[in-house]
Amino acid sequence: MTIADGHKASQCLSEEVSSRLLADLAEVVGQGGLLTGEDVKARNPGVFMDEISARAIVRPRTTQEVSRILKLCNDAGQPVVVHGGMSGWVRATQTKPEDIAISMELMDAIESIDPENRTAVVEAGVILESFEEALESHGLTFPLDLGGRGSCQLGGNASTNAGGMRVIRYGMMREQVLGLEVVLADGRVISAMNNMIKNNTGYDLKQLFIGSEGSLGIITKLVLRLRERPVSSNTALVCADRFEQIAKLLRFMDGRLGGLLSAFELVDNSFYSVNTLVGRHNPPLPADKPFYAIIETLGSDQERDTDLFESVLMAGSEEGLFSDAILARSEREREGIWAIREDLENVVRDFQPFYAFDVSLPVGDMEEYMQRVTATLKKQWPDGKIAFLGHVGDGNLHVAIGAGGAEDREAVERCVYEPLRNYGGSVSAEHGIGLEKKPWLEISRSAPELGLMSEIKTLLDPNMILNRGKIFDSAVGSGAR
Ligand SMILES: Cc1cc2nc3c(=O)[nH]c(=O)nc-3n(C[C@H](O)[C@H](O)[C@H](O)COP(=O)(O)OP(=O)(O)OC[C@H]3O[C@@H](n4cnc5c(N)ncnc54)[C@H](O)[C@@H]3O)c2cc1C
Repeated sequence: MTIADGHKASQCLSEEVSSRLLADLAEVVGQGGLLTGEDVKARNPGVFMDEISARAIVRPRTTQEVSRILKLCNDAGQPVVVHGGMSGWVRATQTKPEDIAISMELMDAIESIDPENRTAVVEAGVILESFEEALESHGLTFPLDLGGRGSCQLGGNASTNAGGMRVIRYGMMREQVLGLEVVLADGRVISAMNNMIKNNTGYDLKQLFIGSEGSLGIITKLVLRLRERPVSSNTALVCADRFEQIAKLLRFMDGRLGGLLSAFELVDNSFYSVNTLVGRHNPPLPADKPFYAIIETLGSDQERDTDLFESVLMAGSEEGLFSDAILARSEREREGIWAIREDLENVVRDFQPFYAFDVSLPVGDMEEYMQRVTATLKKQWPDGKIAFLGHVGDGNLHVAIGAGGAEDREAVERCVYEPLRNYGGSVSAEHGIGLEKKPWLEISRSAPELGLMSEIKTLLDPNMILNRGKIFDSAVGSGAR
């Protein structure tokens, strides 16, 4: 039987096996663990998605339950979609009516924190923010930090290889994970719970599952690397007339701050203006410059670090790397500056229909790219709105657009994605591919790469039950798309 035949078989069989499978699943997770009907519809559908439509949502409590669930579904050819905190932006958790969702929300135990080794063992459903709170009393931190912190799960962070605000200092999720436990499509449990930073004993299997968006296995546990908790922080907002200044300032600050630089975020005038309109956030600097950047350091000695931060900023000013700057003098002021960057509600409201993009390209090409995308968009929709922001220190730009109508989605996407070919850029810096970016994946991945991805998928999930149709359409011998 070919894989394509297998797909058809599972769809035909699904009604026939459905009730038996649901009864078997209920036996595995207990009555409270299986949601159907209205209970499914009442759930959070995720970002940019309507009501959930799925045969059922299964909520395992242990790795063994995940294993039994997957074995039952694999044997029945039942497609499943893993649900983490549902904060992803690329519709990777979207289900079809015939799918079963597996929610990791009940696997939320922090099993151990080892201050000496600076590691923790957690279940996949632990919420990022709760984990960070639990580390405080140990004087440790988990440095991944992103706007979805209150809902995203550590398993979801690993599955999407999440980035966020502090990548410039600590790296993405890939660099925070030391070990994993994962359940394969056929129910096999692979325990790779390494707890050392150095371990060169053959293939680093965990990396295969990190960033694979639930398409190769379900992550059930993680060993995470922890860092010393910073006790000092300094935050400044600067503005500049030219992007070139911002790019130079990034290198200047990083080079002189001796490893303390922890965030360097761009906000362009369009985004800054939307969020600092009267009645929204107070503008720490007037909204009259094309570019703004939030610069933050984290360290261990407030007085010493503040002195260094201020002197480096002063030197940057003398070099003409920005026009004006304001330093946060209290936690309230710091939060006020970050709110301008993190609040997306106003832009979603004002930019309609709203499109959000997350791309990466070399910092040196960013200005030309922004000009090119803006010109192409305005040519087609002169009244269209566009804003750029993002983790510029990591070569990561978020693009917010309000242009055209609902039928113009593809044309708007083309404006943003096509120019990336010129710079060897990526259509997804940190959000993943899911369904949202699937049609554009070939801009960033070659045909041989896609072919190999397809072979890996086929090896680990021959019945294609895990997040079927996400990232790419895998079929044996198709070369991936
Ligand atoms: C306001 C806001 C700001 C954000 N900012 C950032 C940012 O700066 N940087 C960034 O990278 N992201 C950001 N995000 C996106 C999002 O928070 C991340 O992608 C996050 O890592 C998703 O985690 P989740 O638990 O919500 O996963 P979900 O959205 O539930 O799932 C995402 C994918 O992972 C899979 N998955 C989930 N759990 C598992 C598991 N245990 N095993 C296998 N597969 C699994 C799902 O099937 C899906 O494919 C932001 C989101 C919001 C709402």
